[in-house]
Amino acid sequence: MQRAIKTPVNVRAKLGLLLAALVATAACAPKASNSSETTPAQRPNIVVLFADDMGYGDLSSYGHPYIRTPEIDELARQGQRWTDFYVASSVCSPSRGALLTGRLPVRTGIYGNAIRVYFPGEPWGMPSSEVTLAEALQDRGYKTGMFGKWHLGDGPDALPTRHGFDEWFGVPYSNDMNWVGEPDFEALVKLSMSGDVEKQAMYYARRSAKYAAPEESYWEAPLITSTKEAGEFVDSTEQPAMQSTLTKRYTEEAIKFINKSGDEPFFLYVPYTMPHTPLFRSPEFDGKSLGGRYGDVVEEIDWSVGAIQGALKKAGVLENTLVVFSSDNGPWLKMHEEGGRAGLLRHGKGTTFEGGMRVPTVFSWPGTLPSGVVSEIGSTLDLFATVMALTKMPEDVDVTTGLDGFDLTATLLEKTASPRQEMPFYRGGSLYAYRKGPWKMHFITEGAYDQGEKRTKHNIPQLYHLLRDPSERFDVAEKYPEVMAELLAAAADHQQSVDIQPPLFDRRLMPR
Ligand code: MG
Repeated sequence: MQRAIKTPVNVRAKLGLLLAALVATAACAPKASNSSETTPAQRPNIVVLFADDMGYGDLSSYGHPYIRTPEIDELARQGQRWTDFYVASSVCSPSRGALLTGRLPVRTGIYGNAIRVYFPGEPWGMPSSEVTLAEALQDRGYKTGMFGKWHLGDGPDALPTRHGFDEWFGVPYSNDMNWVGEPDFEALVKLSMSGDVEKQAMYYARRSAKYAAPEESYWEAPLITSTKEAGEFVDSTEQPAMQSTLTKRYTEEAIKFINKSGDEPFFLYVPYTMPHTPLFRSPEFDGKSLGGRYGDVVEEIDWSVGAIQGALKKAGVLENTLVVFSSDNGPWLKMHEEGGRAGLLRHGKGTTFEGGMRVPTVFSWPGTLPSGVVSEIGSTLDLFATVMALTKMPEDVDVTTGLDGFDLTATLLEKTASPRQEMPFYRGGSLYAYRKGPWKMHFITEGAYDQGEKRTKHNIPQLYHLLRDPSERFDVAEKYPEVMAELLAAAADHQQSVDIQPPLFDRRLMPR
């Protein structure tokens, strides 16, 4: 049963602002999403399960020899395992902003050049002018629940319930951001600007030791419950969060949400806190895997995916639910054994090499999606337009204008070629690399955080054929001048289409 569709006041008001901005840039509008006019008898539920810093090589189905992930592998077996799926940024906040808005970080401003992610005490956070996927679905009559890490600002106006989620239970930012007895954000900025190299080295050494042997007492992350009652937001905080309970508690809340949704369509977003370092897992998973603490943590996430899948089945909605499992960016390589691996992809979190931005991604919708491995290009940027197409009823307003995403419906349902044939790779506000078809061109390269490869601007861009050389090892620029010309032109066209916004994260460094 569908409930009456609400008047989409929320989206319309924001669309007005968005359209006004778009008129100014109409000549260089982004490529429109190829929205299909589906008229489903019933709107499907949408479930997005999003791991934090999980690498391309961290699941059995993506080739890890020791970490066992039977539940996600089963999703991949009866659904689709995508080989070439990208996030829009190789770090948390911009990646999450892009997933929820369907827009590139440089177009929304949800990025930083000096500050890479949102930190505690952020005065701004997610701009209210952006339409989130949760808001768009709320306007289509969906119940919307989020259980997990937000990382798009921790100020009251930035929290998920202010951006389309009926309810939220989770941490506002990364699990390593509230150190006990260590400098806070402001002190850290002062320290890094002080030039006191010795003090900085001492601080980072102390921190590394804590990451390597994590104790709950080293951090005091807040765990927030947020809802709206009688038109008022109600937020309560539990602090410190016991990090070893987070995966389990998110899962329990997600299952409660599924069970109470009844016949109403729902959007469930579960952005796990793990396996972002420091690593914590439930006692049942302590030492369970062959892969150490990291393996334990990934196996607990796998358990969670299975439990959520089981709840969907029990509620009788499995065959009316699209489930997507993905990760927000590549593995945090500087954490060594405490971080993940990108498999055969080069580098990890923080870079525009494949290891930073290509993520394990599985789609499942039993009875609707044909199963198999999909080697078409897709991106979290495309989820907004795709979900809008899959949930569209004739009376619905089109809210996909101004997106950087494509509607992947036909690729998902019929395995046709992806409408996404190109992918820009930004680090902060700079276009570092560009993919078109199997080719990827690097204008600037830089290794993962603290991994040695310094920022290098290439006068002659590097060129890799990703299908023949997925590890980006063999630069073939000299061999393919015509491909070089084609990619240069494609990247230039892309740049023409983007009016790069100032970096919102860096505002914290400006005098106020
Ligand atoms: Mg992350």
